[in-house]
Amino acid sequence: MKEFWSDRIRDMVPYTPGEQPRDRKFIKLNTNENPYPPSDGTLAAIRDAAGAELRRYPDPECTALREALAAFHGLTPEQIFVGNGSDEVLAFCFQAFFTPGRTVLFPDITYSFYPVYASLFGQDYREIPLDGDFGLPVEAFLGGSGGVVIANPNAPTGRDIPLSDIRRILEANSEAAVLVDEAYVDFGAQSAVELIGGYPNLVVVRTMSKSRSLAGLRVGYAMGNAGLIAALNCVKNSFNSYTLDRVAQAGAEASVRDADYFRAVVARVVRTRDAAAARLKELGFRVYDSAANFLFISHDKAPARELLSGLRERGILVRWWDKPRIDNCLRVTIGTDGEMETFCRVIGELVGAYT
Ligand code: PMP
Repeated sequence: MKEFWSDRIRDMVPYTPGEQPRDRKFIKLNTNENPYPPSDGTLAAIRDAAGAELRRYPDPECTALREALAAFHGLTPEQIFVGNGSDEVLAFCFQAFFTPGRTVLFPDITYSFYPVYASLFGQDYREIPLDGDFGLPVEAFLGGSGGVVIANPNAPTGRDIPLSDIRRILEANSEAAVLVDEAYVDFGAQSAVELIGGYPNLVVVRTMSKSRSLAGLRVGYAMGNAGLIAALNCVKNSFNSYTLDRVAQAGAEASVRDADYFRAVVARVVRTRDAAAARLKELGFRVYDSAANFLFISHDKAPARELLSGLRERGILVRWWDKPRIDNCLRVTIGTDGEMETFCRVIGELVGAYT
């Protein structure tokens, strides 16, 4: 039946997220969720919102949530756009800022949704290979383009990009929008939000799925110059002007207002990450520097694909990609201390069979 499909999507390979098993209980270290629950205040706000008022449409402007985010980031509400997860926000960005025929640049080895969106919207793109240690080859992004998309820290490698490099990319691509996807920034990278005032072409995209423990609520947002954010509203209002439901707006707002809890959770995940990294190095793994809530690891003697299935048999899910350069690597989300203890013990036993 593919003859009825649009030419644009006939050969597309859609992004597949990590599995969300329902059959048995796994230690889930495969989709970069937060191992800790949302704050009590967030859960209470969600319960309150899930009441009689659900008969009413939600606020199409997400006013209260945008005000809370603006106060948190030192911006104005007109500089904030919210959507159902940063995946949706990114999709709106691709539609609002990139034009077919003008080439958009992103790294080869990054969040695999970027090429999916570019294909879906009929946009031209060029993937620029990361350097040997998965660093960003900044020079290759300085020639001017129809747009740039970079994740900081990058996924799935976890490496961060210095703000000075982002500044150079913004300056060299001043005729186009530069999207900086900060899904994991709270775990240790430097945010580009402080550059928004100086660079009218910068859009910073965030999610509440990781550091804010709200993956199930589906909330993401973009920040930038009010003129750029207006383009996102234009796309959204031509498509689905209500976007975020009442429950998501209320829960997300409460979470933003509960900054202490969020900071404590992030600090805990970072401590666990650094301890797990040290332990994995002792087991002979190469552990790439991570500024995220996951580790990207490889072992010279133990093939990643075999470790993946060995872990799965023992009830632990991690992520692996059948992709050149990274097909001997695993991405491991940071779980609780107990989960990481189990993970390190089991992977240590599996590696023992090869060494
Ligand atoms: N950007 C990156 C780099 C990610 O890894 C993810 C999570 N898979 C997202 C965006 C999307 O997150 P969400 O849609 O849950 O906000």
